[in-house]
Amino acid sequence: MTGTARGSVETSTEAELDPQPTFESLDPRTGEVVGRHPVHDAGEVGEVVAAARKAQQWWSDLGFSGRKQRLDAWRKLLLRRLDELAGVICAETGKPLDDARLELVLVVDHLHWAAANAEKVLRRRKVPSGFLMANQAATVEYLPFGVIGVIGPWNYPAFTPMGSIAYALAAGNTVVFKPSELTPGVGEWLAKSLAEVVPEQPVLSVVTGFGPTGAALCESGVDKVAFTGSTETGKRVMATCARTLTPVLVECGGKDALIVDADADLSAAADAAVWGAMSNAGQTCIGVERVYVVDAVADRFFDLVTERAAKLRPGGEPNANFGPITMPSQVDVIRDHVDGALERGARALVGGGHSVRPPFVEPVVLTDVPPDAAAATEETFGPTIVVERVRSADEGVERANDSRYGLGGTVFSRARGTELARRLRSGMVAVNSVIAFAAVPALPFGGVGDSGFGRIHGEDGLREFTRAQAVTRLKYRIPLNPMTFGRSNRTVRRLVRLLRLFRGR
Ligand code: NDP
Repeated sequence: MTGTARGSVETSTEAELDPQPTFESLDPRTGEVVGRHPVHDAGEVGEVVAAARKAQQWWSDLGFSGRKQRLDAWRKLLLRRLDELAGVICAETGKPLDDARLELVLVVDHLHWAAANAEKVLRRRKVPSGFLMANQAATVEYLPFGVIGVIGPWNYPAFTPMGSIAYALAAGNTVVFKPSELTPGVGEWLAKSLAEVVPEQPVLSVVTGFGPTGAALCESGVDKVAFTGSTETGKRVMATCARTLTPVLVECGGKDALIVDADADLSAAADAAVWGAMSNAGQTCIGVERVYVVDAVADRFFDLVTERAAKLRPGGEPNANFGPITMPSQVDVIRDHVDGALERGARALVGGGHSVRPPFVEPVVLTDVPPDAAAATEETFGPTIVVERVRSADEGVERANDSRYGLGGTVFSRARGTELARRLRSGMVAVNSVIAFAAVPALPFGGVGDSGFGRIHGEDGLREFTRAQAVTRLKYRIPLNPMTFGRSNRTVRRLVRLLRLFRGR
């Protein structure tokens, strides 16, 4: 369980009569209760996984086209009822309605891509059988693992888990999803909506509760776990999965940097920096947290960022620029980062310690932050940004790479965009725009270092939820067979001679 669960286990007389413990999900803007959900224990998680395993055979037998038909029907349902699900997202995260809608636009496009491309990427295909095995036909096929456990976060409660769920389903797996304790209603809505178009079997099930429910899912015998959340919890998930050698995909946080070169479009770069840092109140794993701007254009860039950030207002109303901090304990992290930097000599270009007014945090732009301060090294996950001068874009790359994280990154440069992008130690980079890679379904999404490993989205994301199965089929027998006790004592020597002839040059 996270230390500051907003929901709490029900202890009333009513709950004592009902043996199923429950918890509440709350609207972070108002504290209003928006839902009550069961706390599933290990036994219940086990039952759900067993049902998902039975369903998997049926789902797999539908084949790519049968699954595509059903996933397409789900996509259309999601589009028809987009505002209804957006409303649930708003209620549980507090984000503005249009931000929730935008999240669902991405969900729909990824779901479409996964269903449309699964067959092409995963179906059995021939590969060259090579010199030694020329008499064999060789094929590779990507088969579903079985049941995938998905553990999701609260910041993008539909988009983030759907990066695993849509791809895992398209590949022929069934899924058991444990949403964050802060956003269980979104998870339940997703599962119920899929059940409307696939009523036959539970191909997507949801278990709700706190950390122990997630841990139970890791130990339940699922064939793979896809986790998104903090690095620390990611390590715990991995340790739990290690006990049963259950494979894991770990998508953790980041401290993404944006580099502004001297020839950059400064207005576009400032716009991208502010949006990248502050949209969704900065609660974005690929959000911009640091900016390194070349000295020659730094003053102008700082002015542009200051002007834009100072205009933004958080709030609970639909037209606010961004909403509240969804997880109450995050407010303390943000305050510590801002105050800690200011105490050590940083300057606030916008806002400061007073900007932290729970549940909202107003924009904060800091500069001259000591490189080892938490604001410069740890994930802040708030509407804050650290902007620093560097001598050159190359120094910007060095500073960007000097991090234990390596999720995404951004480069603004007219002449050197691609070159600088390639030198960033990260899983994804946007050149002259921000976060664009997350909206391209064909591109893999994931990081290195403390940002985790494995990939969702794209071809890699489909393969992540499969086991490659290699098959050889004998086409004809040849006299030179070294893999039999019946071989002559000249067989291997002949093979070595042939190898020298063809592979020795
Ligand atoms: P966590 O990493 O703790 O939670 C992520 C998910 O893991 C939730 O569903 C959580 O359940 C579940 N979980 C917690 N403990 C366990 C466990 N032992 N075994 C299995 N599953 C478990 O994130 P927080 O919500 O606490 O956020 C903490 C920090 O993580 C943030 O401040 C932010 O920096 C980062 N973060 C990064 C995200 C990203 O997109 N990369 C997303 C969210 C957070 P439950 O919620 O019920 O505890």
